[in-house]
Amino acid sequence: MKLGIVGLGLIGGSIGLELSAIRHHPAQFADRLAKISQGEPWSNLEILGVSRRQSTGERGVALGIVDTASTELNSLTDADLIAICTPIGSIVSTVEQLVPYLKPNTVITDVGSVKQPIIDAIAPLWPNFIGGHPMAGTADQGIEAALLNLFLDKPYVLTPTPHTSPQAINQVSGLIHLLGARLIQCSPADHDQAVAWISHVPVMVSAGLITAIQMESDASVLQLAYQLASSGFRDTSRVGGGNPELGTMMAQYNSPAIARALRLYRQMLDQILNAIEQQNWPAIETILTQAQQERQKFNA
Ligand code: NAP
Repeated sequence: MKLGIVGLGLIGGSIGLELSAIRHHPAQFADRLAKISQGEPWSNLEILGVSRRQSTGERGVALGIVDTASTELNSLTDADLIAICTPIGSIVSTVEQLVPYLKPNTVITDVGSVKQPIIDAIAPLWPNFIGGHPMAGTADQGIEAALLNLFLDKPYVLTPTPHTSPQAINQVSGLIHLLGARLIQCSPADHDQAVAWISHVPVMVSAGLITAIQMESDASVLQLAYQLASSGFRDTSRVGGGNPELGTMMAQYNSPAIARALRLYRQMLDQILNAIEQQNWPAIETILTQAQQERQKFNA
């Protein structure tokens, strides 16, 4: 099996690192290898990396993440499976540039955190494509951030469509089992709406709160707020204070689902505001009790 990884950052690098570890210490990963059905071509694994900068590829080889590295997509001509792990804005253009070099049965997958627009653009380009999204990450980026066990026991979503080939589903399911992740299948649209709720809207809400505090007109109150902020504010502000480029990409690529969720969230904010203005404490208690109970349903 020749696996190509395009984009050797946190996610692409961690995929390479994990598979290299399995190849070197198969006995330690017997449980994962047992999940790969016979006939899936994971023997004699060779990992071919493609990065934008040559130095990243060289680092990938030195760290044992990939066997060979190139900055040229035509180095993947013989690949059986290719994982596109570039930033979301360059996934489709990478596939466009890649397809002229591929043999017809090569499977392509991606790891982008939004699925419907990517699948809509790639499906006409390459029939053997299946969208994926590992729900795993850290605050760090780049090849030095690559981690062993990043995907262990984390959900890894596959979003097949009625046109997705069984070969693509099988091969990428095998990859997910090898990474030790939990495979979840759903439609691209359901994925995008669910991820809007639990990942993208929290970023916007948290960023909105941090920014709204700057609207405080009393400078001494603002200074006091900076001084008094503690663990509660740290938790609430963490995702909003992250990388602005990533948040902007989420907003751009998942805008219908984020807008739908934000509108519903605004309705709930209005309910809370009305209840407070009307001193309707039973209504506030009902909302908070419901929130306390609902929170337990989330896998977080
Ligand atoms: P990252 O750490 O910044 O890595 C991206 C890598 O892609 C960089 O190392 C860069 O390589 C390379 N690259 C950029 N443009 C390229 C191109 N045109 N061709 C080839 N390589 C290119 O980013 P990441 O966090 O791994 O995210 C990658 C993908 O994973 C994104 O689509 C994101 O939506 C998805 N994802 C991220 C997370 C997360 O928490 N971070 C979680 C799930 C999914 P050079 O070093 O050579 O410039």
